[in-house]
Amino acid sequence: MTMREDIVPDGRFARKPFRATGRGVRTGDFNHNPSSWRSDRLIRALRSTDRMAPRTRPTEVQARMKLTVVGCSGSFPSEGSACSSYLVEADGFRLLLDMGNGALGELQRHIGLYDLDAILLSHLHPDHCIDMCGYFVARYYRHEGGRAGPLPVYGPEGTEQRLVTAYGDVPDERSMGEVFDFRTLVPGAFALGPLTIRTDVVRHPVEAFAFRIEHDGRSLVYSGDTGPCEALHKLALGTDLLLCEASFTYGKEDIPDLHLNGREAGEHAARAGVGRLVLTHIPPWTDPLTNLRDARDVFDGPTELARTGAVYEI
Ligand SMILES: [Zn+2]
Ligand SMILES: [Zn+2]
Repeated sequence: MTMREDIVPDGRFARKPFRATGRGVRTGDFNHNPSSWRSDRLIRALRSTDRMAPRTRPTEVQARMKLTVVGCSGSFPSEGSACSSYLVEADGFRLLLDMGNGALGELQRHIGLYDLDAILLSHLHPDHCIDMCGYFVARYYRHEGGRAGPLPVYGPEGTEQRLVTAYGDVPDERSMGEVFDFRTLVPGAFALGPLTIRTDVVRHPVEAFAFRIEHDGRSLVYSGDTGPCEALHKLALGTDLLLCEASFTYGKEDIPDLHLNGREAGEHAARAGVGRLVLTHIPPWTDPLTNLRDARDVFDGPTELARTGAVYEI
């Protein structure tokens, strides 16, 4: 597979200046060693000629779609990460995919509390939706006064009732609906701001969706939670970035219609011909490096582990 260089993790770990490519998409260095980044900076600081030289900025090119990993731990939070939550931005539109345990706090590192334009919930397991309860408090009892307006929230059938039950003490049954505009997901496609969302049901013990998010000819696909399935394969065909769960360990757990292991995530990436594979939703009890190795054994495109705060420009 040809190495795709037009999707890059950047943000706090990008070390080399970006350069414009023929396609007008930013590209950069994939090596994220923070200690060498610091030594690079030290060397530059010690070279006085560098300090005197006029600062040149790389050509600014508008990224078309930006993915930020807000939380990527599977099943329950890890020492270093909240549960599933990913921020997708394009043309100023801000979409959140899932809001698992701890995600609401992490989200505020990236955008303001009321800056979201829509939320997609892949399914109603707590590690994908439970911080919606805290977000209800923030929107309903808004400290600045008044309620935050109804934010579109797309989820499986029964999402509103599930969150009302989880919260347990809403002022009345309609309170959640005052600050969230709940919409039921069905397989198919719909427009959301500047984005096109394609979704289908995947294999999990509860109704669960995967999403393909398209913008201006580019796309990313988020698996949600799923066992190996054709629906994920079809959504992922030719996508630029597949954000794929890898909860299980190859050769260890073998439970149908629940989760993928690293090898299965890699097989999905290879068969669908994706540009880049990012493994996510790895629980604290699963060894991420084993899953990374297993995925790389079967997929020869760029493959890495999701990390909190990582940013990909697509
Ligand atoms: Zn999960
Ligand atoms: Zn789940």
